[in-house]
Amino acid sequence: MITDVHTHFWAPEHQGPPWTDGIGRVSRTLSADQLDLVTSQSYAEHLGPAERSIVFGLQAHAAGIVVPNDAVAAFVRSVGGRTVGFMSVDPVRHDAVDEVERCQADLGLQGIKLGPVYQGTSPVHPQYLRVFKTAERLGLPVMIHQGAIFANAGRLADSVALLLDDVAIAFPDLRIIVAHMGHPWVYETVVVMRRHANVFADTSAIPSRPTVLATALAAAKEYGVLHKVLFGSDSPMVTTAGAVGGLQSVVARMQQIAYTPVTDEELHDLLHRPSFELLGIAEPAVAPTKGRT
Ligand SMILES: [Zn+2]
Repeated sequence: MITDVHTHFWAPEHQGPPWTDGIGRVSRTLSADQLDLVTSQSYAEHLGPAERSIVFGLQAHAAGIVVPNDAVAAFVRSVGGRTVGFMSVDPVRHDAVDEVERCQADLGLQGIKLGPVYQGTSPVHPQYLRVFKTAERLGLPVMIHQGAIFANAGRLADSVALLLDDVAIAFPDLRIIVAHMGHPWVYETVVVMRRHANVFADTSAIPSRPTVLATALAAAKEYGVLHKVLFGSDSPMVTTAGAVGGLQSVVARMQQIAYTPVTDEELHDLLHRPSFELLGIAEPAVAPTKGRT
């Protein structure tokens, strides 16, 4: 069973500049107006081979994107039972902690999507730490975009995965997923993962940069954390099937030329990782359909 831990929901009305100035650059094959609307139908088409998924919006005022959590919850209901929703909060806002509590209690959202650099801040800013503290207390995993971004918001110096070492030291029970394996700082990501049992990473988006992905997978294997690398696509920028194919082709090339290639069995395990269980996420309300993988 494939679990896609990294998929987006948004609509045009949630997006403004500088986000809209840059989104056309996130895909080499799709234009901005092919990317800025996710519907339940387009989402189902994109999800293809995945039996379970995590979907989220993003709230980042500095980057010009604010997807209401109520809209995410409504979207989760509209796509049916194989998807769980994560909330997003902007830690710069005074009510961020209240919003986390509301989204868990009232909307049933099961984790938090965060992106400090998109939000113009740092994951070790005190405003951020109160959100991590709340997430740890409530048992909510956090998916954090800690890596380079296309939008002109924040400082790249605040987007390096090494900063998450401080977060993991302070909040040892908090489950953290580093999106995109912290690209391009993949070594920083794997050494943080090695020190902290509750720090994971996902493969979303990086198959389009095969050198980065191959480096990330080899580094994860050499540092003994490949078992904590989760599969994700980054839909709508890439379909789940496209992300699987990208991983397969990079792994096949690694098997020809890499010092530390990923084996077919390790790739199979990555694609079929029990990510919900690892992250402490409850099953979707309706059992997923069988036979998709
Ligand atoms: Zn993403």
